Amino acid sequence: MGVFIDGVDIGVIVAIGIDFALAYGINKMYHRALRAALNIDNVKQYALDKRLHQKLEESPTRSIPYGCVEGIVRPVGATLQSHYKPGTEGVMQHSSMVEHKSRRLQGFWSDVKNVIIDKLEVIPFYLVPHGESTYPTKVMVTEPNSAYNIEQELLVTHENFIQPQTDIIKKGMELISGEVHKGLQETEKMLIVGTQLMAIGRLVKEGDDIKMKPPSDDYKYIISRKTKDELVRLLQNRAWIYKIVARVLGVAGFTLICFWVYRVYRKVRKVNEIEKMKKQIQQQRDREEQRRARTAYRSDSNRTSVISEESQDWDNRQCVVCLNNQREVVLLNCGHVCVCGDCAFALPEPKKCPVCRERVEKFVTTYTP
Ligand code: ZN
Ligand code: ZN
Repeated sequence: MGVFIDGVDIGVIVAIGIDFALAYGINKMYHRALRAALNIDNVKQYALDKRLHQKLEESPTRSIPYGCVEGIVRPVGATLQSHYKPGTEGVMQHSSMVEHKSRRLQGFWSDVKNVIIDKLEVIPFYLVPHGESTYPTKVMVTEPNSAYNIEQELLVTHENFIQPQTDIIKKGMELISGEVHKGLQETEKMLIVGTQLMAIGRLVKEGDDIKMKPPSDDYKYIISRKTKDELVRLLQNRAWIYKIVARVLGVAGFTLICFWVYRVYRKVRKVNEIEKMKKQIQQQRDREEQRRARTAYRSDSNRTSVISEESQDWDNRQCVVCLNNQREVVLLNCGHVCVCGDCAFALPEPKKCPVCRERVEKFVTTYTP
């Protein structure tokens, strides 16, 4: 078996394994995205009014495992203030400062990002009904930072790229040292008070308050400026892409398996052919042995002439490689009969005719009656 499995085989087997593991993982992601789309499509939307209180009170756990509400963002207490836009108040604030550099590595310049500040501040907030100044029913959204893709829902309130003030001398020094400062990227993103949001998660009544909390692991916690339909479509499209990728990987894996099976089949066939040829050469040698024994017996009376005749014959029929065995095979396609069976097998790969150096496609045993 050691002859059959070589480095290429191991590579192919490893590739098949990785391919199917990936296909399995992506197929799982496909099902998860599809299930999430279906869950969101089927989720019930509750208006922010007295009926939501009643509904929660009727439930023995005073909760709805997966429900949807829509409303306007209102702070619970003090708000987060924008550091750049005066008067802009929010309930989530993501500030970041990233240093951009060019660095020379092994003669090549590549861009490097260095995060200096990456701060996310979150305060709980209410979702309240539209266009009302007093709102008896409001939902407190907790842990908004654990919602799915929440970063996309934040609005950019500040973006600035600060270029360093460098003179020519400093620039030259930087070029020599292999590290050039390109500048600082400042970004501030916020979830602003007054934004209309949709929230999908677990609704719980605690005391007089209704809270929105992350649902169980089977469901996605959603806080989004998108509508329900837009979200469903987004997840469906994502599921569709996963499905295509999983299919392509599956086909690739199957192709690799076919390729490997074909390789093994070819190797087995080659080994069988060699075995068959070795057997033929052995038979030929046995026959030759018998023929010479007969000749020797018949020409016992005229011994000298036979020996000289045979030794000349022997010279012509000697293998040009080992100069010992008889020539036993025809090399194709050149057609030279110049080597014995042992030497034909022992020719280094790719096999070449020792007389004319033409490539040996195959060789067959000669047969002299
Ligand atoms: Zn030989
Ligand atoms: Zn030849």
